[in-house]
Amino acid sequence: MSIFKLYFKSNLLIRILVALVLGAILGLIFQDAPKIVAVLTPLGELFVRLLKMIVVPVIASTLIVGASSIAPSQLGRIGVKTMLYYTITSIAAILIGLGVGAVIKPGLGLQLVSEMATDGKVAEAPSMLKILLEIVPTNPIGVIAEGQVLPMIFFCLMFGIALAFGKDSDDDNVKKSSETVYSFVDGVSQAMFKIVGWVMQYAPIGVFALIFIVFSKNGAAAFGSLASVTGAVYLGLALQVVLVYCVTCALFKLSPLTFLRKVRPAMITAFVTRSSGATLPVSIQTAESMGVPKNVYSFGLPVGSTMNMDGTTVYLGVCAIFIANAVGMPLTPDQMMTVTLTAVLAAVGTAGVPGAGAIMLLMVLESVGLPVEAGSAVAVAYGMILGIEALLDMGRTSMNVVGDVAGVAIVAKHEKTLDEKVWHS
Ligand code: ASP
Repeated sequence: MSIFKLYFKSNLLIRILVALVLGAILGLIFQDAPKIVAVLTPLGELFVRLLKMIVVPVIASTLIVGASSIAPSQLGRIGVKTMLYYTITSIAAILIGLGVGAVIKPGLGLQLVSEMATDGKVAEAPSMLKILLEIVPTNPIGVIAEGQVLPMIFFCLMFGIALAFGKDSDDDNVKKSSETVYSFVDGVSQAMFKIVGWVMQYAPIGVFALIFIVFSKNGAAAFGSLASVTGAVYLGLALQVVLVYCVTCALFKLSPLTFLRKVRPAMITAFVTRSSGATLPVSIQTAESMGVPKNVYSFGLPVGSTMNMDGTTVYLGVCAIFIANAVGMPLTPDQMMTVTLTAVLAAVGTAGVPGAGAIMLLMVLESVGLPVEAGSAVAVAYGMILGIEALLDMGRTSMNVVGDVAGVAIVAKHEKTLDEKVWHS
């Protein structure tokens, strides 16, 4: 009984942080422990399932409420500012990724030769045009049922904007019915946030389980032979935080330290779930705790969780350099330019689910003439990266989400709608 009391009374964030550190340390100590992993796997999966359960209703309801509570012209301005911020920070991310790769030179001297093949992980990256076209759903209820985020955003945005016009209508009937629909959806969104709060109470257990599993399975490799890539990816991610997010916060007169303190719940949830999509309910709560208004985050966060992937961009840059070095064909300046372009675009097309970035790496490698073909040296190097995929995915997903939250905070500040009181408390 008292252990429950202690659990629920202690600060949630501290509980999550303790679980994270403990999980990592114990995972590193108990390498290759299938029995413990088998026990912990369902506990971790339960956390991810609980988050995923609320993603669709959270996105749909906040987006409809957000879009319908502002004038359409304002929505356009917020949309443009958000996309502009995302584009600039993504370009910064690839430059940082390539810069860190060029300085640390991971993989140099590995001299891989064609002998082994990767274990069938060679997958096709989808084409850009297809990704863009599929944003428009042919069956809105279908995409909501299947949880396809981008088409769902598209439909909910249109629905919300239409509702905004309805609420403004001169026709009393239209006005009244639009307001009824609005109140209903608003009620759904309130209920969802209550559920997010409950799910977070379980977070420490889920975090412990997920982190233990990853460190127990991959820890040795990441700190051993592949330490230079792991180090370079994480250094790039850290630089992205300091040079991009902290600096933009400071430029917009927001305390970087307060930002870092407030963003932690989303950062940690993304770290352990390895999914920007599954982290959305928590990112939304985090943005609220920063005083970002609904009309800014309800668009910026769902869109960011599928299109703004700064962490993935850093990863693509570093890993492209690693693989090129490992096969003895370091990237030329021209190839670096190509990587810059394809990595930024590939990140836009990366889904916010675990492992999506590794598929996009195929596209980037292809663009510089290093296709992953069974038996080739590139495939061997790619296989090595896949070996520590989970660890790299944790860091990059975490940064993907931090980038989204930073974006909506900056846009709100620029719109002069950020509630800055919470930044001083
Ligand atoms: N797991 C990442 C995310 O959800 C995407 C990736 O694999 O890079 O943001």
